[in-house]
Amino acid sequence: MKFPRIKNIVPNAVCIFFISFLIACSTNSSYKSNNQKESKPYALTTFTILADIAKNIAGDRIYVESITKPGTEIHTYQFTPSDLIKVKKADLIFENGLGLESWINKFMTSAGNIPRFTLSNGLEPLEIASDAYAGKPNPHAWMSPKRTIKYVDNIVNAFVQIDPEGQEFYLQQAYKYKQELMKLDEQLRVHLSSLPSESRFLVTCEGAFSYLAYDYGMKEAYLWPVNSENQVTPRRMANLISKVKDNQIKTIFCETTVSAKAQKEVARASGAAFGGNFFVDSLSGPNGPAPTLLELYGYNLDLIKEGLSIK
Ligand SMILES: [Zn+2]
Repeated sequence: MKFPRIKNIVPNAVCIFFISFLIACSTNSSYKSNNQKESKPYALTTFTILADIAKNIAGDRIYVESITKPGTEIHTYQFTPSDLIKVKKADLIFENGLGLESWINKFMTSAGNIPRFTLSNGLEPLEIASDAYAGKPNPHAWMSPKRTIKYVDNIVNAFVQIDPEGQEFYLQQAYKYKQELMKLDEQLRVHLSSLPSESRFLVTCEGAFSYLAYDYGMKEAYLWPVNSENQVTPRRMANLISKVKDNQIKTIFCETTVSAKAQKEVARASGAAFGGNFFVDSLSGPNGPAPTLLELYGYNLDLIKEGLSIK
């Protein structure tokens, strides 16, 4: 009779030890976060690209973190309990707005009274070119560097609200970062305008390039308007195949946060080449080719040049 009792005690002891270990771990991690929060303000962003822009302005004065990790599909993200724990420690949250984060209202209701700043505020939005989305704005304004400047101004205004003494510093950081954005704007203008006019046609999976196409003189076509409904239908595929053939587009592309399978099929059926995946709704990880927004622009531009230039 004693043996089974001892057997019960051992797992219980292991279990108690394990639970204590978990509590110790979680206490430790929250202590670390509290330290970060105590020493400097804590800004959360909905996705990696906003975090990168904000870090360029924050310097060492504000701790900035993205809720979602690199590679995450952002439109229909399902937030987790640990995201809610994180946001309760934040001093503010940055969202893109223009309908990008379909989950944000529910998230903010659960998060409580955290100041929320919409970084696309003040921009003139382009509409999603699809009957099903008539009148709705295209959310991907950061894809055009000159429009990202507005995001920078909005970040400065938000940071000054939580850290007024840092105003001069944030303005200087913003000035330097805007110079970099203007350089990218110039590079995009020079390289995209040097493509043969018939090649200036950007075919992607999601309609995320409207701002880039509009600002730099390209036409665009895509498999679906926004990732929140990225169903590939035979009709959409057939339409895109015809468009690629009719316009003799030699290379088409997809994005890193969605499957490129259907687009590769469009390429095969239309005779175009598949030119690779753009970074759009997420940066790459730190060791990938697009760990910052400036590098993202450069990487995408290289793919476009490689795919659409005359060889
Ligand atoms: Zn998107």
